[in-house]
Amino acid sequence: MNNFSLAIHGGAGTLLKSQISQDQEKAYHEALNDALQAGYYVLKNAGEALEAVQVAVTHLEDSPLFNAGKGSVYTNEGKHELEASLMCGKSGQAGAVAGIETVRNPIALCRKILIDDEVVFLFGSGAEEYAREHDQLTVDPSYFATDFRKQQLQKAKEQGGRAILDHDSERKFGTVGAVAMDQHGNLAAGTSTGGLTNKKYGRVGDSSVIGSGCFADNQTCAISATGYGEYFLRNVTAHEISSLMKYANYELQKAADTVIHDQLKPMGGEGGVICVDARGNIVFSFNSEGMYRGSVDASGKIDTAIYG
Ligand code: ASP
Repeated sequence: MNNFSLAIHGGAGTLLKSQISQDQEKAYHEALNDALQAGYYVLKNAGEALEAVQVAVTHLEDSPLFNAGKGSVYTNEGKHELEASLMCGKSGQAGAVAGIETVRNPIALCRKILIDDEVVFLFGSGAEEYAREHDQLTVDPSYFATDFRKQQLQKAKEQGGRAILDHDSERKFGTVGAVAMDQHGNLAAGTSTGGLTNKKYGRVGDSSVIGSGCFADNQTCAISATGYGEYFLRNVTAHEISSLMKYANYELQKAADTVIHDQLKPMGGEGGVICVDARGNIVFSFNSEGMYRGSVDASGKIDTAIYG
């Protein structure tokens, strides 16, 4: 069997180590493990990186533990506005959505957009209409609700209007993502999120923006990001990592660390990335206390981790 690899994340800015219970920790490891198993199965059977990424992200979207799909955070208006993106490193095709309120799995909608290859990025009611026309699974918005996220919104509001951006230690991002290299040597990346708690005015973060929260190029690497989206947008983070490899011949770990630690951190850009290069090497880089993450390769050995 040829080489292949898959890495996933369930967000940077984890619960503090001092605050997490053993049961909570176990639940996160199990959810990460399930997503990796599902993606591994695709890759082991010579499936495409794109498929493995979609399958792994779908598992994480369906778990209420993460801020994507079910379990997404609330906007200031008490709604959910989901976003996601997906990119193929072989063809350069991409699909992205934002402002999603009723599509159960935004990453599946991204895949459809990517395959259709007419547009890249759809927003709000138009994206919803496209989903309906293309037989995507839709749900009542109440499907995304969880008590835990509702409490987070109440707390954010009690602490002032833009609270979520003002008290860093309280921010728990929880976005999900996956990157993969398949047996054919092709790369793919995908990212999905509910965004930031208490977001207003149709705020869109990096997770749905190709080049910022997601990027894949067979010549360099595939990247999925998580963190304080405004900084990832300003730095075009995922594309920057790929460019350091492409134009400055950096190794993947050095490229990722340069962007995450040297560029983002001094600005206050908390977060991290998962990456895989064209040889299947997996790299994690984050400047937050932790990042829910995991990986698996052709040997089938699964690793999951939360803290540094
Ligand atoms: N990057 C996401 C955003 O800013 C948040 C996250 O990674 O959890 O919307």
